Amino acid sequence: MNRTKNVPGVCAQCGGHFDFAAEHIGLVAPCPLCGRETELQLATPEIGTAIPRRMVVWTLVTVLVLVAGFALCVLLLKRAERLADQNRPGRRATVDAPANSNLIPGYSVSPIRAEKGADGAVYAVGEVVNTRNQAVENFELQFQIADADGKPLGVGTLSRKHFAPGERWTFRERIPNPRAASFVALPPNSAAPAGSP
Ligand SMILES: [Zn+2]
Repeated sequence: MNRTKNVPGVCAQCGGHFDFAAEHIGLVAPCPLCGRETELQLATPEIGTAIPRRMVVWTLVTVLVLVAGFALCVLLLKRAERLADQNRPGRRATVDAPANSNLIPGYSVSPIRAEKGADGAVYAVGEVVNTRNQAVENFELQFQIADADGKPLGVGTLSRKHFAPGERWTFRERIPNPRAASFVALPPNSAAPAGSP
């Protein structure tokens, strides 16, 4: 009844498993399997390593699934954004290229397209938005006029007497030259020499 409890041990030399009396733990004794001297130490229970390994695997799987799910969400969002952009009403009003907000500081200038009117004349059609928070008097927009072959025909000027802050100004200007076929908005004072202040 007074016997010491046996505990599972492992040999540091051969890795074999054997039982030894709990009171002998820490002593050096010959291994019953290989005969070499080994410190009597407790065998690490199998369960102790198996569960953390499984947990590590599952944690990795969970992280991977989360990362993949996040990437998928970002992809779908981007796609939805692109679709929404394409279907936005009014987008067809301007030509392929987006409005240029760098051409004239404080204004967003759409590409200008050529339209044939019912009267047979050519019209320059586009849009300028005053993105500043103040009104402007006598705003001017200059644009290069070219024929169907891209040959320059001259410079046209549009003006707006009063341009309110945030106002979206859609213009449709009759161009006297019947050969006019394309228009490109020009930055202000583009005739001035480059590098002038
Ligand atoms: Zn051994």
